[in-house]
Amino acid sequence: MGISVICTGTELLRGSTVNTNLAALGKALTARGAKIDAAFTVGDRAEDLYGALADALKLSDCVVFIGGLGPTADDLTLPCAARFFGLELRQDTELTAKVEEFWARLHQGRCPKNQYKQAMLPEGGRAIPNPSGSASGIEFSGSYDRRMRHIFLLPGPPTEFIPMVRDHLADRLLELSGATEHVRGFLAAGVGESFASRLVEQSLGGPDPALAYTANFEGTRIYVCDADPAEAERKFAVIHAALGDAALPEGEFSLAPYLVKRLAQRNLTFSAAESCTGGMIASAVVDVPGASSVFMGGVVAYDNMVKHELLNVPAATLEHFGAVSAETAEAMARGVAAQLHTDCSVATTGIAGPGGGTDEKPVGLVYVAAYLNGKCEVREFRFRGERDAIRQRSTAKALLLALEMLKSEGC
Ligand code: AMP
Ligand code: MG
Repeated sequence: MGISVICTGTELLRGSTVNTNLAALGKALTARGAKIDAAFTVGDRAEDLYGALADALKLSDCVVFIGGLGPTADDLTLPCAARFFGLELRQDTELTAKVEEFWARLHQGRCPKNQYKQAMLPEGGRAIPNPSGSASGIEFSGSYDRRMRHIFLLPGPPTEFIPMVRDHLADRLLELSGATEHVRGFLAAGVGESFASRLVEQSLGGPDPALAYTANFEGTRIYVCDADPAEAERKFAVIHAALGDAALPEGEFSLAPYLVKRLAQRNLTFSAAESCTGGMIASAVVDVPGASSVFMGGVVAYDNMVKHELLNVPAATLEHFGAVSAETAEAMARGVAAQLHTDCSVATTGIAGPGGGTDEKPVGLVYVAAYLNGKCEVREFRFRGERDAIRQRSTAKALLLALEMLKSEGC
């Protein structure tokens, strides 16, 4: 009873839309101990949809289509999926009312005929609620190769798809396919993939196919996947201990949510003064639901004038040490904490490139500071990579340094 996914949309193949829905579904299933067995991506052509469905059904009894439920001519998912199983489409009364209501809420005049495509259901099918869009999802069963198969059709816009996965699809797929593995994991903060895997393998006495690593700018996410929950638990404990201080608690995979949680637990407020990161730290923190309980705000202090006038970085510091210096980073962190009255703060200043580097201060030179209750720590980094990578690494190091400060100060 595996699960296959068919992502539809020519834009996904052309690269103009990134396939974030597949990642969101994969993540939601992994968190529940299930997994996607295979995924196909096809353009908006009927023959490709039929081909992908036939391939998917060789591997899986559950197939999820993403996209192609809109009212336009290139939206073919429902008629193709129903025809494949020889099922008639009928207009559903409840869905008709929903389509009309949705239309009336956003437009004037009569609901056009093509909108009623979204009120059709295959025989025996049922709608999956979609509170954010006009196209409901659909679940139906059909027989193929002497077995009953479960087919799910979901709309493509991530703002609709992701809540539907969270509220309905992931649990329904789990109910049908059953949990196949127990997954436990954490972020090894600030640790690269090869170093992390070496530590892990040493601790377990060799490589293990049940382990998965994904590296990003924040460190390495390490997952233990095992069909036996006790074995997953045992390996997790060994690995987590091997990573020592770098290991975030189980289930913590990102720095900003963990930082917000830690600050909130200690009733500490937070702010950011950002030069080269230009708001990325503030954005990462505000991405976390509940950030308002700790985050007061940030200052994008790009020009020296802003560093001086809004953050009180002394003109002599800027002149003597330069904008990209440990002294300026520290003054920025202290300045933003004072101006926004926060207990904790971070600051970044660096040369993100591609221009602006010198022999003395090359592209990639970044100073990151973290301040907590009167104390300040500054670190110098010499990052490789292009502008975006340097800015993302700086963001991660600032969040990490704030976490280190909290730990060293016993918070
Ligand atoms: P559709 O449901 O096919 O009409 O798609 C509506 C919108 O969702 C389009 O802007 C698509 O680019 C977007 N979309 C479709 N599939 C995906 C996907 N797998 N990941 C992210 N966006 C998608
Ligand atoms: Mg589409």
